[in-house]
Amino acid sequence: MADTLGAGWALDWIKKTAAVVNAQREELTDLDRAIGDGDHGANLDRGFQAVLVKLDGATPATAGEVLKTVATTLISTVGGASGALYGTAFLRASKLGDSDLDAAGVVALLQAGVDGIVQRGKASVGEKTMVDAWTPALAAGNEAVAAGKSPAEVLDAMAVAAQEGAVATEPLVATKGRASYLGERSAGHRDPGAQSTAYVLRAAADAAAAA
Ligand code: ADP
Ligand code: MG
Repeated sequence: MADTLGAGWALDWIKKTAAVVNAQREELTDLDRAIGDGDHGANLDRGFQAVLVKLDGATPATAGEVLKTVATTLISTVGGASGALYGTAFLRASKLGDSDLDAAGVVALLQAGVDGIVQRGKASVGEKTMVDAWTPALAAGNEAVAAGKSPAEVLDAMAVAAQEGAVATEPLVATKGRASYLGERSAGHRDPGAQSTAYVLRAAADAAAAA
């Protein structure tokens, strides 16, 4: 396991994300069918498949370069709220990826991404959005950094917390995004963007474990 993460990790992270999004496309779409318009899986799969094409044969020097390509591709190929939100997140994160990242650097990079999501989408915790997966993930990441954990351990803790956060959206009533149109009827379903966030972070952790 590497002490720092760079372009190789970022490439593997994104390839693993594309793979899991493709594998879970129907699940994400079913979640979005329950409380949205049933396109979240298709949206993200289209976006990450386009990212794979862009990155094919590319030899990026930094994680930042990889994440910038992800951002611009998602913004131009993913319709829907999630394209703008993930696109903004990867763009903000890319700006902190010029040099190799230690454990604190990885968390700072992801924090910058989440700050972008919050600025753009204006959701806070408890509104049944992807923010409900990202926020506990960052808390777990900061805790793991303070405990002196490696980048891979930090990302693993973040992935676990994000998955718990996604599950914890089930009883919530949505007050942001398309699901908010359902009001109380949005309760009892997991938020699709929170679940995709958990997959994105699991991919980041698995890539770090292999780095
Ligand atoms: P759309 O809602 O436009 O169809 P998607 O289905 O791709 O887009 O994505 C829906 C997901 O986007 C939701 O499950 C939620 O996690 C996230 N989302 C929607 N609006 C917001 C927001 N304002 N802030 C944060 N996340 C949001
Ligand atoms: Mg949708």
